[in-house]
Amino acid sequence: MERNESTAKSKGCPKQPAGRAKSGKKRSPRGKEYSPGSFSPGEAASALSAELLDEDRCREWILERLHPDGAHCLGCAEPILDGTTLHNFWQGNRCNCKNCGRWFSATSGSFLQNMQLTFAQVFLLASFADYLSCGLTLSRAAAALNISPDTVRIWQRRFKAIGSQITT
Ligand SMILES: [Zn+2]
Repeated sequence: MERNESTAKSKGCPKQPAGRAKSGKKRSPRGKEYSPGSFSPGEAASALSAELLDEDRCREWILERLHPDGAHCLGCAEPILDGTTLHNFWQGNRCNCKNCGRWFSATSGSFLQNMQLTFAQVFLLASFADYLSCGLTLSRAAAALNISPDTVRIWQRRFKAIGSQITT
């Protein structure tokens, strides 16, 4: 059950005010004032980018799924055994098969061939594609954060309270 707050509709998704929050200033014994700032969920959502993701982790995650049985040559299908070629393969670089001489990379022949995006961009793009088609539920958000749905709810309320203090 949602409480019917008068500001809830005007402050709904997707755009939240991105201004700074006023916060209660504390006066020190010497009369100086200092208070930490804050940020809105809208600001965080606007700042979400592939650059915040770890490119190496995204590449590993994706390439492990493209090649669950390990690195193989796209030409002769032989497993890649030598260290240098294996390293290049898992780095996503071009590699040369010692058996048949073919040049290829870990994305060659896959649906990611010639992707011209970073692995982080592809990872975020895939996640967004799923969110856009299936939606992001409280339980999915909780699972991604490794916290309980109740904790997600508590933080939603906390951000809402911060949002009500934000001036535009
Ligand atoms: Zn080969």
